[in-house]
Amino acid sequence: MEKIFEVRVPGGYARAFEAKKGQLLKIIDIEGQQVADFIAFNKENLKEKLSPSHTYIKILSLNIKPGDIMRSNLRNPMFEIIEDTGKNHDLLMPACDERRYLVDYGIENHRSCVQNFEEVLEKYNLNRDDFANPVNLFQKTRITEDGKLIQETGASKPGDYIVFKCLQDIIGAISACPMDVNPIGGDKITDILVQIFDNE
Ligand SMILES: [Zn+2]
Repeated sequence: MEKIFEVRVPGGYARAFEAKKGQLLKIIDIEGQQVADFIAFNKENLKEKLSPSHTYIKILSLNIKPGDIMRSNLRNPMFEIIEDTGKNHDLLMPACDERRYLVDYGIENHRSCVQNFEEVLEKYNLNRDDFANPVNLFQKTRITEDGKLIQETGASKPGDYIVFKCLQDIIGAISACPMDVNPIGGDKITDILVQIFDNE
């Protein structure tokens, strides 16, 4: 297996990348407890995108695991999960945007995953109106018996990772979430590593 691409996503920012059908995409939480928002598009049809809700209605679970197929908004297979040491990933929460920080926390001009994605996907003419909800890698959400959502501090350890096999040619983006006003990302915002491997 040959590594053909690597990019380090600086904490609080995003990076975009492209991968071909059959290639493996590895997302590594370098220092642990860092939420990595992940969105992806079918490169041949940018209206088709990775969809957490179309994934969990198929697998009937909120816990993705190796062997699971992640689907697009058109219900086509987009990724297969190959390996996962991180284990806690959230399929429910929308990406943070500037309104999240302003309306819910009273903070102006805070960086956000939506802004991050717009910065790195502008070259594809993609903006927030095109984004589906993200898959929030390394984000731990717990649901209580009475249905409450608890956002816990991430449980990933340094070097934890998840590997996806691409089932389409994709444009993807990872945002190392800048959320620092609730506990989801631990006590500091850190970098995420993205690697792509040829799977021949
Ligand atoms: Zn975020």
